[in-house]
Amino acid sequence: MSDFDLFVIGAGSGGVRAARIAAAHGAKVAVAEEYRIGGTCVIRGCVPKKLLVYGAHFAEDLNDAAMFGWDIKQCQFDWPVLRDNVLAEVDRLEGLYRQTLTNHGVTIFEERAVLTGPKSVRLASGREISADRILIATGARPHMPAIDGIEHALSSNEVFLLDQLPKRVVIAGGGYIANEFAGIFHQFGSQVTIVNRTDVILRGYDEQIRDRLLQISITKGIQFRFNAAFDRIEKREDGSLKLSMTGCDDLDADAVLFATGRVPNAQGLGLEEAGVTLGDNGQVKVNERAQTNVPSIFAIGDVTDRVQLTPVAIREGQAFADREFGNIDRTVDYSAIPSAVFSHPPLAGVGLTEGQARNKLGSVRVYTSDFRPMKNVLAGRNERSLYKLVVDEATDEVVGIHMIGPDSPELLQVAAVAVKAKLKKADFDATVALHPSMAEELVLMK
Ligand code: NDP
Repeated sequence: MSDFDLFVIGAGSGGVRAARIAAAHGAKVAVAEEYRIGGTCVIRGCVPKKLLVYGAHFAEDLNDAAMFGWDIKQCQFDWPVLRDNVLAEVDRLEGLYRQTLTNHGVTIFEERAVLTGPKSVRLASGREISADRILIATGARPHMPAIDGIEHALSSNEVFLLDQLPKRVVIAGGGYIANEFAGIFHQFGSQVTIVNRTDVILRGYDEQIRDRLLQISITKGIQFRFNAAFDRIEKREDGSLKLSMTGCDDLDADAVLFATGRVPNAQGLGLEEAGVTLGDNGQVKVNERAQTNVPSIFAIGDVTDRVQLTPVAIREGQAFADREFGNIDRTVDYSAIPSAVFSHPPLAGVGLTEGQARNKLGSVRVYTSDFRPMKNVLAGRNERSLYKLVVDEATDEVVGIHMIGPDSPELLQVAAVAVKAKLKKADFDATVALHPSMAEELVLMK
């Protein structure tokens, strides 16, 4: 008899979902978490980031308000107020996650757990626990390169806790976090420079959409240094940073944020000792049923380094628990996963980019709508949105939708249903426009 039917290591989005559903199916479940319940997304990722994005949007909205007749005097931004309100909201959500687990009868150990065998773990306090199945849901951590002075740099873990806003911030990387925080800091008044090792931002997104973000960002005043690398970071006596670079001039900054990808949290967990095979990036290798090469050990979410997105980890956790404890044969469908970058303006995409579609399908039709949103016109904001449909010439199926502009993630979630359902361009054409809206462009492209 084992102590538990399921022992989950890591109480992030995926681990919590798996634990809750397994318990709802009648399993005896425990979760170990060494930091805070909720994981990266809730504690130091998607949720606090999105709240900062909302906060940052006020800068443009308040500016634009004048053309809509509002006379707003003494407009000032107070970072500690926003920071503390966001952190309080994170505390509230952590409480809800904890409640969800306890309401389902899940035992929570708030300490580190490491594997001691295929069916056993040891807690940091020394207690040994046995379980029929063990689920690794430990997520990933920011990749921090081994350069001199890296200890002076921030990662996305600390960026939410700043005492004050930096006047000059340099961001390493050209991906999600770099572009999202460039927008946030810029709106709050910091001078922002993005430094990337190549000249491509947001690799994987549609090229035209990425180019539009780059143009808009440059027009707003965000600076870019491409094909550049950090040699050394030095802290001066006044607290400022000297960044020695290769590929561009040295830079001065008050803060430097590294956003150069994430590393699976698979080391020091006793995985190798338990016989679990790890991949080249240190990720836990699993089959389509989230099972490692050790039959009793499973893994989901970022630690498996497949699709590093919260809703995917949640689906993997749900499918694992349904399969293993609910007798429901469920697997995760990784096709047509919508994603978004909460930059200023945000962008979003689902399905094949134009380039991917041309490579895969050969003949494709591409429809674009390049327009200035009505609100921007009245506000005098010269910022254009771009929507794009990628259609398979042979079948008329819409295989990709890509957008940049206000609220594009909100619109794309709905549009993703059409791609998932393999709707045709003719179905878009047959849908009456909802006027006046930005989304109507999706059914008006000729
Ligand atoms: P990304 O993978 O988005 O971007 C990494 C960037 O860093 C790229 O520009 C890449 O350059 C560069 N890079 C990669 N490795 C190195 C290295 N060794 N040295 C220097 N530069 C390097 O990572 P992020 O850190 O921005 O985000 C991590 C993950 O978190 C994302 O992949 C995403 O899955 C998730 N996330 C999702 C969000 C969302 O859904 N809105 C928001 C934030 C994070 P290049 O491409 O030119 O090679």
